[in-house]
Amino acid sequence: MAEHYDILGVSRQATEAEIKKAYRKLAREFHPDANPGDAEAEARFKEIANAYEVLGDSERRARYDRFGDDGLGGSGGQQGNPFGAGGLGDIFETFFGGGNPFGGPSGPSGPPRGEDLETALNIDLRDAVFGGEQMVNVRTAIACDPCEATGAEPGSGTSRCGECGGSGQVQRVRQSILGQMVSASQCPTCSGRGETIDHVCKVCKGEGRKIETVSYTVDVPAGVDSGSTLRLTGRGAVGPRGGATGDLYVHINVEEDENFLRDGHDLLLRQPIGFAQAALGAELLIETLEDPETLLVPAGTHSGRRFRLRGHGVPMINGRGRGDLLVELVVATPSDLTDEQDALLRQFAELRGEEVAPADPGFFSKVKSAFK
Ligand SMILES: [Zn+2]
Ligand SMILES: [Zn+2]
Repeated sequence: MAEHYDILGVSRQATEAEIKKAYRKLAREFHPDANPGDAEAEARFKEIANAYEVLGDSERRARYDRFGDDGLGGSGGQQGNPFGAGGLGDIFETFFGGGNPFGGPSGPSGPPRGEDLETALNIDLRDAVFGGEQMVNVRTAIACDPCEATGAEPGSGTSRCGECGGSGQVQRVRQSILGQMVSASQCPTCSGRGETIDHVCKVCKGEGRKIETVSYTVDVPAGVDSGSTLRLTGRGAVGPRGGATGDLYVHINVEEDENFLRDGHDLLLRQPIGFAQAALGAELLIETLEDPETLLVPAGTHSGRRFRLRGHGVPMINGRGRGDLLVELVVATPSDLTDEQDALLRQFAELRGEEVAPADPGFFSKVKSAFK
């Protein structure tokens, strides 16, 4: 996941004013009103707002700096020694399932949020360079139709929860090394709703959701690389009984291309060139990911020399500009000479004063035996 600082484009040492300024600028740029119908801009806007929610608040920012996102709740990240400076309140919550040691008061809450899901997406180099829409199939949980995600058989009523008496919370008393402790936590029977269903839905057995494979369209941004992860907010599993939907994380894997080798934002192409072309110079037509480009090879070019075709590489993600295509010339030695070509090359070698193997085919059998 991208760092909140990276999302706002500020350093970890940025002042409050710098963070605020960066946020305002980005928020204006990616605001949904300014980008109607642009899902990518909307996702960016959410990310930006989320980052500012953390970094714009000095206390939350300090926690994030120390513990990362774990420090901000949700996963109940362990914060060092629970007997430390936190005081007794922290001990209660850390030990007794308050869940989020940094969250607000843990009153009755709604149904649990659905699971975050992960999936892998394999794309080829062209799709990574140019971006575009891809499909992923995900096994996920969707709302149950007959009960409209309530988990109750249609027409069935609800009753006050017997376990918590309708408060949605249960008190627990436990013995600990510090003595008897009382804590309140969400009622497990009614999940904090305070009421239970009289007759559960036969289709979902009261879950309010069912497992199904769903196809989603993923907007792959131009320039992604293997190891990138895209988050699709709200595309995870729906929570039980109408709970909020989790997110879907799509891990990108870019398959190797048979012609182009990727090196960050540059692409490398090994281009064979004839021996005479390299010596005399030539105009080559070079395959790129778009239209072919002409490359002027000067006379006397050595094998291995690289030429740069600017702007034919991989686009910078979330930014302007594009890498280059590096063309590495490989001089191909002819191995299929006709008699005429053979004779001409011999003449050429003689003029150059280069000693070559005699035309007598017996020579090669002698060479072979010499290497045995
Ligand atoms: Zn209850
Ligand atoms: Zn149902």
